Amino acid sequence: MGALNLDFSAWNTPTTWLTFAAWFTVSYCYLSMGITGGYHRLLTHKSYKVPNWLKYFIVSGGYLALMGAPVSWVAVHRLHHQKSDQPGDPHSPRDGFEHALYKWMFDMEKRQPIEEIRKQVPDLLEDKWLCKLGVDHSAKQAQLCLWVNIAARVLILVAFGPVAFTANLIASIMVFWSPQFVNTFCHLENWGYRTYEVRDGSRNVPWVGIMAMGEGWHNNHHAFPKSARHGIKWYELDCTWMMISFLEKVGLATEVIRPTVVSAEVIAKAKEAQAAKFVTASNAGVQTTSDSAELVNLALDVPEPELVKS
Ligand SMILES: [Zn+2]
Ligand SMILES: [Zn+2]
Repeated sequence: MGALNLDFSAWNTPTTWLTFAAWFTVSYCYLSMGITGGYHRLLTHKSYKVPNWLKYFIVSGGYLALMGAPVSWVAVHRLHHQKSDQPGDPHSPRDGFEHALYKWMFDMEKRQPIEEIRKQVPDLLEDKWLCKLGVDHSAKQAQLCLWVNIAARVLILVAFGPVAFTANLIASIMVFWSPQFVNTFCHLENWGYRTYEVRDGSRNVPWVGIMAMGEGWHNNHHAFPKSARHGIKWYELDCTWMMISFLEKVGLATEVIRPTVVSAEVIAKAKEAQAAKFVTASNAGVQTTSDSAELVNLALDVPEPELVKS
């Protein structure tokens, strides 16, 4: 193994900056999409489908962003949608800013024991590869994730050098905090704006929207939890949606769920068509009592979905 070049004064060259920019961009996109496109929209909400090899590739990005076992993450997030900003929400800022930002992670084992997790994620427990990463909130699964993450960074340092390593490390830190910012700032009063009157305090916060690849349009998301698209207005940039649409165009993503026009006529039609049965079926995996979400799920019965009008 050659000696590592740790002479930082030699860094200020165009090649170095180009290498840094390339590693930062690729790392940021892969890790962030792993959380937003993998853990969140694919595993939790089943907003779209991809072949298994691609599913594991996308989800690995989330694991390498220190998100812990996918099964545990999804169990927390489904609970968040069921209880958002009510007692039992795992990370509502109504229980304190620091609690929502990071403290909630440390007592999840007590608050969501394995029996509760099993109820939340029966679908994921059938996936033996995902289960290998852990199926609970134990320290063991968190440590496994930590060691895999450390090993991956050591590999980058040894194989590609300190510039690649530093770019990857900075991207990783930013990506790690982005879902925590969604949990906190996108449920805090006075930040951003609300487009839909849902029962929780979710909000669309532009800087989180950009930083978290579209997840900061969180009020839209709580209104349409199953939609693969979170940014709805033209200025609500949603990079994860761009990736999913691209995968759909090249035939790799299928059954992509979009927000639909919720007109009185559409709702009435859907309600006629065995409303109760349909709500249950379309909510499989995530139960929500949000009125608008329920209406959208009803509306999903209508062919050729269009973009929602706010
Ligand atoms: Zn939320
Ligand atoms: Zn969600």
